[in-house]
Amino acid sequence: MIENKQHRTELAELGEFGLIDYLTSAIKIKNKTTVKGVGDDAAVLNFDTRDTLVTSDLLLEGSHFDLTYSPLKHIGYKAVIVNLSDILAMNGIPQQIVVSIGVSNRFSVEAIEEIYKGIYLACTNYDVDLVGGDTVSSNSGLVLSITAIGYVSRKDLVFRNTAKKGDLICVTGDLGAAYMGLMVLEREKQVFKADPKMQPELQGHDYILGRQLKPELRTEVLRKLKELKVKPTAMIDISDGLASEVLHICKQSKLGCNIYEDKIPVDTATAIVAREFSIDPSTCALHGGEDYELLFTIRQKNYELIKDLSEISVIGHMTEESSGTNMITRSNTQVPLTAQGWDAFLKRERSVVRKKK
Ligand code: ADP
Ligand code: MG
Repeated sequence: MIENKQHRTELAELGEFGLIDYLTSAIKIKNKTTVKGVGDDAAVLNFDTRDTLVTSDLLLEGSHFDLTYSPLKHIGYKAVIVNLSDILAMNGIPQQIVVSIGVSNRFSVEAIEEIYKGIYLACTNYDVDLVGGDTVSSNSGLVLSITAIGYVSRKDLVFRNTAKKGDLICVTGDLGAAYMGLMVLEREKQVFKADPKMQPELQGHDYILGRQLKPELRTEVLRKLKELKVKPTAMIDISDGLASEVLHICKQSKLGCNIYEDKIPVDTATAIVAREFSIDPSTCALHGGEDYELLFTIRQKNYELIKDLSEISVIGHMTEESSGTNMITRSNTQVPLTAQGWDAFLKRERSVVRKKK
């Protein structure tokens, strides 16, 4: 486990209230919507006439993160990002988070503090207040639950079920990198398990490892779209892979789609590592997941306004439901777009081992 080795303070030395105090005493409230933060029985928030958005994620050690290769600070950071990403996907502005942790005495105060350093860094980077939480002991590993709260004006609100036939399908950034980052981390873990004298080979993989361990939000893209007065007709964040998210929009909007494989943005670094693992780069983008990019649809008439934004790729368009959900491959054949799902995919690919040089 990665933590500060210099000093270990036992949780028992501080006790529950001491720990809460230790973790939250430096909080400075940033947002006007926060009336009262940590310290009372409940936080008090005020959103005036705007709609309030609430979303929650529960992360379990072993299933959602692995302490052998995820630094604690990154776990805290990513846990916040994953939640704020859901607020963004509603076209909302994140304002607060509530953090609940279950920890065993396997963890020291310094280890919990590392998680909180990551949590606070995300709060600073994205202007969010930590306004409360709960602290309990757990004897089944680390549990981290975060609830994010945000607001949106009714006119800006974007759902998944409101895409229209003919709308263009857009994605931000590039896809599949977080998945390849995970593959490299898993591979090195297996190598290490087999022979603890082997050093992990992580150099040269900064981009994909960063995308796996420290994802960021696309707040800038949403800001630019607002500036251009382009309101997405439907939107979702990409947590489970492009295919699964496109299908959510299609199903909820009762439409079909045509996605063009050659338009799916994949970074060169991702493609190189994918080939090393004998995985098709498009497969990483379609089924990898954890990219936390945004997938959205816009009216065709807005194409001219967004076409020069380098962070946005147009990858296809919405069709009638009866046309089905399709991908047009590089070789120009039409195949059905199916959601392989993150879990099934992970199980199949996790056994990949490092090739002997
Ligand atoms: P209660 O007994 O009412 O649940 P607690 O003693 O658990 O109150 O919490 C006291 C205050 O500290 C509350 O404002 C709560 O939201 C906050 N808090 C508790 N645990 C955490 C945590 N892990 N992170 C941030 N705030 C916390
Ligand atoms: Mg409590």
